[in-house]
Amino acid sequence: MSKKDIVLSVEDLTVSFDGFKAVDDLSFYVDEGEIRVIIGPNGAGKTTVLDLICGKTKATSGSIKFHDLELTKLKEHEIVEAGVGRKFQNPSIYEALSVFENLELSYPKGKRVFGALFFKRTDEVINKVKEIARMIYLDDKLDVKASLLSHGQKQWLEIGMLLIQNPKLLMLDEPVAGMSVAEREKTAELLKNITKNRSVIVIEHDMKFVEHIADRVTVLHQGKFLAEGSMQSIQKNQKVIDVYLGQ
Ligand code: ADP
Ligand code: MG
Repeated sequence: MSKKDIVLSVEDLTVSFDGFKAVDDLSFYVDEGEIRVIIGPNGAGKTTVLDLICGKTKATSGSIKFHDLELTKLKEHEIVEAGVGRKFQNPSIYEALSVFENLELSYPKGKRVFGALFFKRTDEVINKVKEIARMIYLDDKLDVKASLLSHGQKQWLEIGMLLIQNPKLLMLDEPVAGMSVAEREKTAELLKNITKNRSVIVIEHDMKFVEHIADRVTVLHQGKFLAEGSMQSIQKNQKVIDVYLGQ
């Protein structure tokens, strides 16, 4: 492959809450197939950046381009339809439904929500659900109620519910918080397996996990861009050590 395509261009992005700039003149670019990790102290503006990209929060100024689409002008559902998926910190799965049913409901053609359960299951849907279930390590749990899954398995299920919609940009906010070491390692493998034709933005505090998955790391501090580069270069960056890693 030649030069990589830029999938997401964030330029001069600012959001002000009653005069307080949670994100302040931020610019960064994400390539196709890249896993980008955003790190920084609590309150740095990381979650707000994802809120701005997915349209949950409206920018005060600046631009967010997904390919040629200006996302700051779109509504949340239009951004999802354009191919941007976002996972929040707490999983939003249907606890009373099985793994299979949760994935089936997220399948794009199954958007009739609960009605979808009573329609004929096509082979197309069944095969896709099984394929995704294998990717998220839940292929032997298809009939298990989501409420019975471990915390980590619930997180994977929600990632699966996003993956089945085939987003081209997937955003995850602290996906391994509360997971066991073994689950963290499997999550890292999972993320590395889904980046073909897809970019991923991850917010995470677990530096071992970040080191494992990140192509590049962007560091935020007080809403502003502080540094960017490989994990190796970030770990040696004195500004980053001073505000975050050295704590
Ligand atoms: P991080 O995810 O890096 O810990 P956040 O993006 O959640 O940080 O928050 C950045 C700052 O913006 C915090 O000081 C937070 O209190 C503030 N903030 C976030 N959302 C809002 C909002 N809707 N209204 C007012 N302040 C907000
Ligand atoms: Mg946050």
